[in-house]
Amino acid sequence: MSVPPPKQSGRPEVLWPLFGSLESLDGIGPKSAQALIAANIEKPRDLLFTLPHSGVDRRRRDSILDVHAPAVCTVEVTIGQHTAPSSPGRPYRVTVEDQRTTFQLVFFRSHSEYLRKQLPTGQRRVVSGKIELFDGVGQMVHPDHILTPDEAEQIPLFEPVYPLTGTMTQKAMFKATADLLGQVPGLAEWIDPALRAREGWPDWGAALALAHRPMSSAELSSTSAARQRLAYDEVLAHQLTLALARAQQRRGKGRVTAGDGARQAKVLAALGFSPTGAQIRATAEIAEDMAKPYRMNRLLQGDVGSGKTLVALMSLLNAVEAGGQGVMMAPTEILARQHLEGLRPLAEGAGVVLELLTGRDKGGERRAKLEALAAGDIQILVGTHAVFQKDVVFADLRLAIIDEQHRFGVAQRMELGAKGASVDVLVMTATPIPRSLALAQYGDMDVSVLDEKPPGRSPVTTALVATSKMDQVIERLRAAVADGRQCYWVCPLVEESEVSDMTAAEDRFKRLRAALGEDVVGLVHGQMPPANKDAAMRKFVSGETKVLVATTVIEVGVNVPNASIMVIERAESFGLAQLHQLRGRVGRGATKSTCLLMYQAPLSESGRQRLEIMRETEDGFRISEEDLAMRGAGDVIGTAQSGLPIFRIADLERQTALMALAQTDARKLLLDDPKLESARGTAARVLLWLMEQDKAIRLISVG
Ligand code: ADP
Ligand code: MG
Repeated sequence: MSVPPPKQSGRPEVLWPLFGSLESLDGIGPKSAQALIAANIEKPRDLLFTLPHSGVDRRRRDSILDVHAPAVCTVEVTIGQHTAPSSPGRPYRVTVEDQRTTFQLVFFRSHSEYLRKQLPTGQRRVVSGKIELFDGVGQMVHPDHILTPDEAEQIPLFEPVYPLTGTMTQKAMFKATADLLGQVPGLAEWIDPALRAREGWPDWGAALALAHRPMSSAELSSTSAARQRLAYDEVLAHQLTLALARAQQRRGKGRVTAGDGARQAKVLAALGFSPTGAQIRATAEIAEDMAKPYRMNRLLQGDVGSGKTLVALMSLLNAVEAGGQGVMMAPTEILARQHLEGLRPLAEGAGVVLELLTGRDKGGERRAKLEALAAGDIQILVGTHAVFQKDVVFADLRLAIIDEQHRFGVAQRMELGAKGASVDVLVMTATPIPRSLALAQYGDMDVSVLDEKPPGRSPVTTALVATSKMDQVIERLRAAVADGRQCYWVCPLVEESEVSDMTAAEDRFKRLRAALGEDVVGLVHGQMPPANKDAAMRKFVSGETKVLVATTVIEVGVNVPNASIMVIERAESFGLAQLHQLRGRVGRGATKSTCLLMYQAPLSESGRQRLEIMRETEDGFRISEEDLAMRGAGDVIGTAQSGLPIFRIADLERQTALMALAQTDARKLLLDDPKLESARGTAARVLLWLMEQDKAIRLISVG
């Protein structure tokens, strides 16, 4: 046994070379190692997962006429006449002849002596380089290869082209990867043999060799068997980590919580509508989880207006019926209050005590609430993050719901889990995210989807308007207000500063008030004292004010069914998900609704495309798919906050199926072999080390 090099402890010995220094590889010196490290390629392992992005076809041709110039061409030629430059700065030319035509090799600033030696007139050479037409004459400027026919085999038929950084050249990359491929250890297979056979995937070593040394453009495609396999390795390791986190969660003892449905029935009877099929299904899935003796860890995904709140209430009542308590956390004060106002009458009607707790509760009142909670006299608590403060103690907390927290990462979920050892957790998100992202981000959770909207929604008409038409917009607004309609007016995120947002909102507020009348227009923004914010919201909800000028504080969840107009200034500066959320505030009542996306001309091409998507569809999932396709995974959620993995080979945008496959596979592997002790389990451990999932490895050793 050799001693592990620094920082390798625990890591299987076969992997050590891959985690050593880059400089140990051919073609890499201290300078290029530095450049690679700066580009996030820190170890041989990282280089191994850095694949060529394209390739050059250097198959031998009879003549340059066989390719469509400009293109790379490899031909055998007879060397003809040398023409030295007529004046400095002019090129040196060598006329050559292939089987069907003559063309010129062109050199700038080259020594004629050297060229005469390399290209002796009358002899044969194989040249390879880019052919261009210049006044109808073929030219090859500085050929990449000039070899005698004997040596010509050295030219690869298909040459990989790598992404380069710093002083690295293609030749150096080729050398380094050749060296590395020679050192790839043989590792036991971690992929299910049946799956591998079905997909026709090569083993790990062969896949690397094929991916680094493709023989054609087809083999560079992300759908080639070799690349699919390598991508699968990455997502499998990630899904194994999530599955391990999930398994550990489930091992945490849960409570069996099964209500008798009596209070739920009372609430349903008091509602003016019946739940949608999706709401019934989701409520049942949650109840089933809560009735099991392990901890629930479930995500409820549903577009704006899909009716998540009712599902939440039903689940909270389930906890109460079983003799316990429930808590629901909203991201903002406004939303928490709205939950209070919407849910308390329903709860009271069913004989359930529902209270609000936010950061604004102070002194005696707060103490009284905390005592009532600890005594079990408050059965449902809604509030802001204040509900999770240390001194908030429940008598018998069974269910914790987090509403609208699309900014909640795996790490935070784990923290929340630590709060109540046996509390069932439900996270609700209104941001529809593409399936691949949901799998990557929430793969440790079980998912319920509300894919059906309550009936009676009117579609929202969306139009694009240039800011220069502001006066006309205000005129039309005047008419709408006279008609009794209500309008949200969202002000731009000019800079990443709340103060400048506030100024923009206040300016717009003044202008609209001057145009529409003092009492008609209200204002809310993040910098206002809470009491003023509440007052402004209340006036808008009651219909006292007709127009509410706001910064994005209204983005999530606010429900004012009479509001039927949404104006969004500088819409091009918002993300699609955000626009979708904002637009979801209208179209909630019987009146036909309108959303005006105001933009600052000129719009960029991508800006226009994005706004066009908003005009075309109201389907949140379609919008999120388009957003993902246009921006890439990191941008959609914000990689840093989301804990979204960074893959080197796998492509979240295009390889959804792989991600789904990996999730099923990983969960099954852990079910069959919870401690990863079987042959495949042991191989999977090596995969986790290889993919640097050390967190997961710690979870196994705990278990
Ligand atoms: P979100 O999923 O965005 O949180 P909400 O729960 O706020 O949606 O519901 C939006 C609106 O739809 C609310 O006014 C709610 O009362 C209403 N609603 C919910 N479910 C139904 C239903 N099944 N039928 C009719 N209206 C419903
Ligand atoms: Mg909601």
